[in-house]
Amino acid sequence: MKSNYSYQIQRHNILYIAILLSLSVGCSDSDNSNREKNKPERVVDVPHFNADSAYFFVNEQVDFGPRVPNTDAHKEAGDKIISRLESYGAEVNVQSFEATTYDGVTLRLRNIMGSYNTSAKKRILLAAHWDTRPWASKDATNPQALFDGANDGGSGVGVLLEIARNLQASSLPDVGVDLLFFDGEDWGEEGTGVAESWCLGSQYWAKNKDGYSAYYGILFDMVGGKNAQFPFEQISKQMAKKVLTNVWRTASEIGYGRYFIAQSEGAITDDHFYVNTIAKIPMIDILHWEPELGYFGDWHHSQRDNMDLIDKNTLKAVGQTVLHVVYHEEL
Ligand SMILES: [Zn+2]
Repeated sequence: MKSNYSYQIQRHNILYIAILLSLSVGCSDSDNSNREKNKPERVVDVPHFNADSAYFFVNEQVDFGPRVPNTDAHKEAGDKIISRLESYGAEVNVQSFEATTYDGVTLRLRNIMGSYNTSAKKRILLAAHWDTRPWASKDATNPQALFDGANDGGSGVGVLLEIARNLQASSLPDVGVDLLFFDGEDWGEEGTGVAESWCLGSQYWAKNKDGYSAYYGILFDMVGGKNAQFPFEQISKQMAKKVLTNVWRTASEIGYGRYFIAQSEGAITDDHFYVNTIAKIPMIDILHWEPELGYFGDWHHSQRDNMDLIDKNTLKAVGQTVLHVVYHEEL
């Protein structure tokens, strides 16, 4: 993904701020809080997100080797995601397609979706990318090297698969849940390159989603790192503020407020940008940030993105929070 604002995105943001301001006129906060107060408390049995299991799934992906598109490791890791989803009772749909990278390579890619409670009209979309970047482009010693992508790629897959395991092991939530694994996120042009060189899988999916829609979406990107915190990312805040508020409030209520911090940071062009702007599904991004270093930390796109970086406590904070959100969603 790309970390700088482009002129186009800034213009979008201004437009969305204007829309949000105009929408907020008809519905005051006091109306909402009165309605909340009158609602009876609902008792919901939320499954326990198992951090050891999520860690195992991250490691399983890493053990295939770097999941660089057009390699055997990429194919095998994708096949494993499909077989795990099937074994956990999901209805699996695979979207196979080709995309051309900014440097002229044709990639054979697969977006993979595992669906639960398929008859429910109200659906929550949970997503992550499963490919890894073909070079450690920010590595201080060898920017051409391959790297494990334990956090950038692996961690989101681990959280989604552990959610899949829970959805089978427990009674389902009232809403439908779709777990979407985007391919081709990380073959983009670092630095001053165009934003659209990243996120090829989500761009393709958003344009070819065959009538699919969801109530809202949550994207996981680098959600297993040591020292991780998750701030209000700007695109999430401007395009899916209600979702952001709900997830962050839930995290705070169940004891993970030190991970989900009430602090606004800049915009990141990640898969959620295309889900918001093209698919028109409001989606937030839960994305690594840390004090002093900001987004991504100092290990990003380097050989240091390996299992040493993965902290089960971070996986637990993210996975448990999102399970809580999903299971409290009413039809
Ligand atoms: Zn990346």
